[in-house]
Amino acid sequence: MTIDSCWLVRVKMFVKSRLLSKVCFMQTRGMHLLNQKAYVDGEWVTSASNQNFNVINPANGSVIGTVPNMNVQDAQEAIEAAAKAFETWKFTTAKERAHLLRKWYNLLVENQDSIAKIMTAESGKPLPESAGEVAYGNSFVEWFSEQARNVRGEIVPSPVPSKKIFIDHHPIGVAALITPWNFPHAMITRKASAALAVGCTCVIKPAEDTPFTALALMKLAEEAGFPKGVLNLVTSDRNNAPAIGALFCESPLVAGISFTGSTQVGKILYKQCSSGIKRLGLELGGNAPFIVYNSANIDKAVEGALISKFRNCGQTCVAANRFLIQNEIFDEFVDKLTQRVKQLKLGDGSHPGVNLGPLINDAQFHKVSGMVEDAVSKGAKVLAGGKPASQLGSLFYEPTIISGVQSNMQVYNEEVFGPVISLIRFKTEEESLQIANATERGLAGYFFSEDVTQIFRVSSHLEVGMVGVNEGLISTAEAPFGGIKESGLGREGSHHGIEDYTYIKYTCIGNLK
Ligand code: ADP
Repeated sequence: MTIDSCWLVRVKMFVKSRLLSKVCFMQTRGMHLLNQKAYVDGEWVTSASNQNFNVINPANGSVIGTVPNMNVQDAQEAIEAAAKAFETWKFTTAKERAHLLRKWYNLLVENQDSIAKIMTAESGKPLPESAGEVAYGNSFVEWFSEQARNVRGEIVPSPVPSKKIFIDHHPIGVAALITPWNFPHAMITRKASAALAVGCTCVIKPAEDTPFTALALMKLAEEAGFPKGVLNLVTSDRNNAPAIGALFCESPLVAGISFTGSTQVGKILYKQCSSGIKRLGLELGGNAPFIVYNSANIDKAVEGALISKFRNCGQTCVAANRFLIQNEIFDEFVDKLTQRVKQLKLGDGSHPGVNLGPLINDAQFHKVSGMVEDAVSKGAKVLAGGKPASQLGSLFYEPTIISGVQSNMQVYNEEVFGPVISLIRFKTEEESLQIANATERGLAGYFFSEDVTQIFRVSSHLEVGMVGVNEGLISTAEAPFGGIKESGLGREGSHHGIEDYTYIKYTCIGNLK
């Protein structure tokens, strides 16, 4: 064999082996992201106690897999790893961090189908919705990869000639991130990519119901090449979560906490953080009004209601919770809405054509069914649904509309977090605002009106952090997400999203001649 033909054989063998490995990789693509270990200091680890817990598919009750049930000892190790990594990560350039975030984003896009499948399996979301969340979650990584290089300081004119005033932004240190099950991808990337962009390191504790999506994100972050200890993820069951949360709040090595979840847990974390005056970002529950005025385009309002209420089976903190419909258009709106709701298909989210999946767990299911029973027992009328869909599985609840909702009913006062539309009739704009604002919560609010003066008036009077006008879907990486009152502190996403992870340092250079 000549040197040339020998070379040709080697090239052919190389190409063949690459093709084979690519085929194998593609066949196991979904599987290589379903990781059953936690991620600490660049290693895939079990728990100190060697205990695991099961992750359940809410559509059929099957066990998807197990993950380590970590405790405070494990969490402490993750915090120490993140603190050590911070000492070098904080000195990386914005360009380096932007580059790594971009690599992570590219891998997330490349693997979007696998992540969506894992998400549907553990959260019950219909597959197209999971794909939507993956795109939404990825967009935060892309956004903050771009923001990293746009965090700029200021030089402020000094009142005296001998001094110069410099202001710049520094990373706070280790950020502990506690996330919920309803957006298992986006709630992690919205926090972590902002923290990483400015030079913080992270310890993440995902929800016990949905750790596999979170672990898939870590796998791809590892592939992207984040140095060890920069991103850490501890998994735990519900019983271990409070102790881990307390450690995050009280550890002197943690500089700040960012939490998305219930107002009840948010309040616990707020109290615990007081001992160390720790930085805290809270995205808590909402009680969004959805107001339809006489001037509204009814078809747009019906579409807005469907998207705002039934996304993720009503389990979103920005979901419309109280539907306030003005007298004149009440019947038309309710007729059109009822027809559409009756067409929604409930089922296993991995099956084609399904619009709504199951509720996430027993606690959620009992809360939702209990609220409808409470309303009906106090005189509310069921226009659609109103009962469990037990033929599909133990966690399915029919998309429901109830009218005649009164202030003594739970659905009027509390966040339903389920597929239930509660209708309230009102006469005047003042009355609608009075009802809309009569709540301790202030996350999102929606209204439909074609009257431009009303649009400006009502937007300014609604006591919420985010307003959707003639729009039921408002979340995007470019806009600040967050609430007022008991709905939380701080803003995520947008260029404000880095504020929770940076502190402002003022440097005075004096005695200049
Ligand atoms: P939900 O009731 O919808 O599950 P939670 O606010 O209880 O919402 O949970 C959101 C996240 O907070 C989850 O990751 C959960 O494990 C975690 N968590 C629950 N209780 C605590 C706590 N006391 N301290 C810290 N984290 C907690």
